[in-house]
Amino acid sequence: MRVHERVYNLIVIGGGPSGMMMAGRVAELGGSVLLLEKNKILGKKLMLTGGRRCNITNAEFNVRKFLENFSDSKEFLYSPFSKFSSEDTFTFFEDRGLPLVIEARKRAFPKTQKATDVARVMEKYVKRNGIEVKTGVRVASLEKENDKIVSVKTSNGDEYFADNFAIATGGLAAPETGSTGDGFTMLQKLNHAISQPNPNIVPLTTDEKWVHALSGTTCSFMTIRFIQNGKAKIKKTGKILFTHFGISGPLILNSAHEVKKLLAQGKVEASIDLFPDTEENDLDNKILRLFDKNKNKLTKNVLSEVLPSGLADTILALPDIDIAEREVNSITKEERKSLVKKIKGLTFEITGTLGFDKAVVADGGVELAEVNFKNMTSMLYPNLYLLGDILNVNRPSGGFSLQLCWTTGWVAGSDVGNKLSKNKRWQ
Ligand SMILES: Cc1cc2nc3c(=O)[nH]c(=O)nc-3n(C[C@H](O)[C@H](O)[C@H](O)COP(=O)(O)OP(=O)(O)OC[C@H]3O[C@@H](n4cnc5c(N)ncnc54)[C@H](O)[C@@H]3O)c2cc1C
Repeated sequence: MRVHERVYNLIVIGGGPSGMMMAGRVAELGGSVLLLEKNKILGKKLMLTGGRRCNITNAEFNVRKFLENFSDSKEFLYSPFSKFSSEDTFTFFEDRGLPLVIEARKRAFPKTQKATDVARVMEKYVKRNGIEVKTGVRVASLEKENDKIVSVKTSNGDEYFADNFAIATGGLAAPETGSTGDGFTMLQKLNHAISQPNPNIVPLTTDEKWVHALSGTTCSFMTIRFIQNGKAKIKKTGKILFTHFGISGPLILNSAHEVKKLLAQGKVEASIDLFPDTEENDLDNKILRLFDKNKNKLTKNVLSEVLPSGLADTILALPDIDIAEREVNSITKEERKSLVKKIKGLTFEITGTLGFDKAVVADGGVELAEVNFKNMTSMLYPNLYLLGDILNVNRPSGGFSLQLCWTTGWVAGSDVGNKLSKNKRWQ
């Protein structure tokens, strides 16, 4: 056990994007900072983001429109995002020699297409201005006196003191990167309310073997309906990826949160319409014309002209269809009509989602009513800042999670800077 006498202006726990942003900002404004990270390196998860290309933000520069993506929390977030928006993220990185490019759905990436370059810029931002960085150090607890945090204790018994503290330990998604929920445990001990974390942006699972067998097949333009008690509760159109456990792809990942809510109420079925722009009758006529032209061929060879081949084979082999190996001229009108129905409503039961290890983001975290969003401090401890994934903020994929980190880190860091300059004026 070693008690370190120095009192820093700020101690940041966690060297992910939000922690690095706050640490760098405070140092830039002249504050002394200690950054404690339990991994050997900073930004381990950041380097994996966006398939290692890092979807760094979303280039929707209108703050109100940007916040439309944060359904439950947009009113809370207006204050910090009006101080540091996605436009400011562009300026921040471009000023530091990392130009950004905009792709489909306004997703922004570094022009170099390398998440490691984003981590490098952040590490440089942190390490300038004399910040002390200690890696391989796990914080075990925060010590308080009344409503003030006074020190942190590490798992090897060291104690460090500061005027301000930040918890930037992440949520529970991809725990192998270091975000194992330590922050939640520490905050619960400080009497903060934590809503139960759950995998959020995450693939959906099914037990249907034929779905698993389609693993690797993509359908680019389809409509999926999530049905409960015979009613379509959610409807989305776009691309879907079949996997060995169920379905995935951005459209599915971003539907998972709503689907989970349905699952909590009962059985959910997914129904895929592979021809969403074609009415059932028109599709039937199209297939009829196709069959007329190919009377003596096997059905499976003919249908692969209108469907991705793996999918055609799978549909034709379903127990209630089972016409793959028959010649087209033997298919009855009823059989053709049930085939059309299947193509417009390929249905299977959703059993759940994959776990935290496969999630991009987990929901849950510090209840937003317990956070002062003007400066990102805890309502219970005015010298404790709460950043990034530690907050109970739902959002889709598309650069919104990292923007939450840049914004909360920058706003919190600026607030510590303000406190420092006020103190200086009084000296
Ligand atoms: C595979 C994947 C891809 C993603 N892609 C994108 C994307 O392209 N765009 C996007 O916007 N978002 C993406 N995300 C989400 C994004 O990475 C997170 O929202 C973001 O990293 C959260 O940052 P953070 O600073 O809050 O926490 P984290 O990045 O989780 O960092 C927390 C840090 O705290 C450390 N720590 C934890 N406990 C302690 C402790 N007790 N003591 C000391 N240190 C501790 C951890 O080791 C970790 O380094 C992705 C997530 C994953 C898993």
